[in-house]
Amino acid sequence: MAGTRAGADVRLIDAPSPNFDARRAPPDMVILHYTGMQTGEAAIARLRDPQARVSSHYVVEEDGRVFRLVPEERRAWHAGKSFWKGETDCNAVSIGIEIVNPGHEWGYRAFPDDQVEAVIGLLDGIRSRWEVPDGRILGHADVAPDRKEDPGELFPWKRLAEAGHGLWVEPDAAPGAALGPGDEGPGVFIFQAGLTKLGYDSAPSGQYDEATATIVRAFQRHWRQETVDGVADGETRARLMGLLRLL
Ligand SMILES: [Zn+2]
Repeated sequence: MAGTRAGADVRLIDAPSPNFDARRAPPDMVILHYTGMQTGEAAIARLRDPQARVSSHYVVEEDGRVFRLVPEERRAWHAGKSFWKGETDCNAVSIGIEIVNPGHEWGYRAFPDDQVEAVIGLLDGIRSRWEVPDGRILGHADVAPDRKEDPGELFPWKRLAEAGHGLWVEPDAAPGAALGPGDEGPGVFIFQAGLTKLGYDSAPSGQYDEATATIVRAFQRHWRQETVDGVADGETRARLMGLLRLL
């Protein structure tokens, strides 16, 4: 990547990290994170620490400053054990963006407009350089739902979609019945198959077990942010069906 501009209005601050290795294919996915630490400075220091063995391509501060840690053509170490549409090495195929926010552990709070605009600018640039479908712009929780919650239910995915990045559907006018823990049968199987089709690691069994509830919480943090409870209420099911129609 030549120059110092990632997108239309993004000015990059170089802060190189040693924590990367080689890719085996061009990136076709973007994974968004929150830093989950008390300050952005602490997060950037950790992502550059050779002992920590973690990194991301970019860190976006709350005031909109964007730090570049790893070149896009290298494999940064941000997603860990992960899964999306059969891919289990999401680091190898993705660009990772860490968004400064204390997260659920340290005082989860809204993402400021300047920060969200900087993420959008980064995505504009990334998608001008690499082929990244809307359905592969994801949160860390989407690819690691049993371990991660970030960037979480306060992240404005709808605003991103309005700017042209990622999938979004509006609430359904007449949502149907709920499915939840303990339910079983064909309806559960079809619902799990829908989660699998979208990309989640949701092998359909027909049993609404704890693994299903965990994936539903990840889905809700991204696409049904009003209610994150692991119960597939009618609205959750309707939004899943709506998203599948966009693929
Ligand atoms: Zn993360």
